[in-house]
Amino acid sequence: MPTVREVEKALYELAPRDLAQNWDNVGLLVGDPDREVTAVLVALDVTQAVTEEAEERGCDLIVAHHPLMNCTWSPVQSVRTDHPQGRLITTLIQNEISAICMHTNLDSTKGGVNDALAAALDLQDVSPLSEDGIGRIGVLKREMPLAEFAAYVKERLQAGGVRYADGGKSVRQVAVGGGACGEYATLAASLGCDTFVTADLKYHDFQNALGLGVNLLDAGHFPTENVVCSVLDDFLRSRFPGLAVICSSAHRDVIHYYI
Ligand SMILES: [Zn+2]
Repeated sequence: MPTVREVEKALYELAPRDLAQNWDNVGLLVGDPDREVTAVLVALDVTQAVTEEAEERGCDLIVAHHPLMNCTWSPVQSVRTDHPQGRLITTLIQNEISAICMHTNLDSTKGGVNDALAAALDLQDVSPLSEDGIGRIGVLKREMPLAEFAAYVKERLQAGGVRYADGGKSVRQVAVGGGACGEYATLAASLGCDTFVTADLKYHDFQNALGLGVNLLDAGHFPTENVVCSVLDDFLRSRFPGLAVICSSAHRDVIHYYI
């Protein structure tokens, strides 16, 4: 069986480290690099529930997308069991579960988050949206009205709901950006896209979209990125035949919709 270090090294073949943004924190974040791995749990985030699932299912390595520490939304200055994040890190260490996170390098790499999102929406002729490799542009097989496309996105991504602004166009040329990519809406519009699908949008983002004449859809952070878990799952299975790889069933969108 491979060591944690060997799995990390292999994951950099899928998502090269130099593709990560300079503020990011990717790679092996918790654990012993020389420890042998018997089973891997793949999840979008390393949460308490995911850690408990790894324990229950006998996984000694979690491979996730979002860094569990020292990134913009979760700085770590101390590891204390009376803080939720310290408790999480302690649980991992006590149970000898390692954690590898592949974040913005997995967003931009070929076949990563954004390609998985474009594939989930069945976009054709897919190419990068931005120079930094974030986002994709593609074409729908069939033009559709915006309301129909919103329902299509919800169903394809198994999202709880989709919020959108109507830029006054029917949908054919679509840009996508998994997670919080609202700042790319102007670029998408300038490249001739009629529609942009991303997540974590604010009121003013939707207002600006009307000015840009682009349809803007927020399909949620989890639904637009969780599509990458099957990419990680497939990659690890083919790279390490014989290694048990499991996709988390405990990890779900933290956001619920009251309809
Ligand atoms: Zn994300």
